[in-house]
Amino acid sequence: MPTVLVTGGAGFIGSHLCGRLLGEGNRVICMDNLITGKISNISHLEGNRDFKFIKQDVTEYIDWKEDIDYVLHFASPASPIDYAKFPIQTLKVGSMGTHKTLGLAKAKGAKYLLASTSEIYGDPLVNPQKEDYWGNVNPIGVRSCYDEAKRFAEAITLAYHRTHKIDTKIVRIFNTYGPRMRKNDGRAIPNFINQALKGEPLTVFGDGRQTRSFCYITDLIEGIYRLMLSSINEPVNLGNPQELSILESAKLILSLMGSQSQIIYKELPVDDPKVRRPDITKARKELGWEPKVGLEEGIKKTIEWFQNGT
Ligand code: UDP
Repeated sequence: MPTVLVTGGAGFIGSHLCGRLLGEGNRVICMDNLITGKISNISHLEGNRDFKFIKQDVTEYIDWKEDIDYVLHFASPASPIDYAKFPIQTLKVGSMGTHKTLGLAKAKGAKYLLASTSEIYGDPLVNPQKEDYWGNVNPIGVRSCYDEAKRFAEAITLAYHRTHKIDTKIVRIFNTYGPRMRKNDGRAIPNFINQALKGEPLTVFGDGRQTRSFCYITDLIEGIYRLMLSSINEPVNLGNPQELSILESAKLILSLMGSQSQIIYKELPVDDPKVRRPDITKARKELGWEPKVGLEEGIKKTIEWFQNGT
């Protein structure tokens, strides 16, 4: 039975990943310092004897005596309001946390998978973004704590691959949504759904013409699982290429909820990317992967989850 360490395992994506890995017959060690993760995301797994939760900040030395077959590094604040609140922790977990987890993978002879992000493309000047695009990142802006930490994380991951021959993988995750996002995590989809549920106006930032492409969580997890088992060492984009404006996404949520809430416009956050859409040719070709859950279907499931008062 392979043993997998998932850092950030009590977060939105990490907890879905832990569940999937247990279902595939792995032993899972879930590590999280709970600054943005939540115990309630993993409480359904805690009765499983192959699951173990350890509360730890992964920027500290990781002392683990037994064998580990895979290290999956998913720990990091990931929502713009979270990393604005925890900029130093975000920089540390992307840099020191990646270094510590790579060191652990090296010591254990484990395979390694880094959760990277579409944010490494910054405010992209080409759309859609392919893996060979170098990006357009402000190195000192308010988003730089996340963007630059993840760019460093990719660089050190490939340095460990080239120098120490570790079998590393890098997933660049585009906007993902679904059950277990925090109500107040500040991102567009949970914000709009929770504003509509409370009968409050939906807050669209800027003129709402900026675009995003939203991927449902189960599709993302399938792609990550395939990448983990693959032999691809270079970064792979995973996301849903269906692109829409933020205003369209707010209107879609209102119509799916039959909500009478108004839309109000607020100031656009600094360095908010104007467009974002993954080119997933590589994932299609090399992983045989593409998203299966349409936007309406995924948003309906997410609305249901928030309605059930989680
Ligand atoms: N956004 C918005 N209203 C909100 C939350 C977000 O208009 O209440 C916009 C935000 O400015 C961005 C897009 O929605 O253009 C996606 O933002 P999110 O925070 O979900 O993630 P990002 O893709 O920026 O990392």
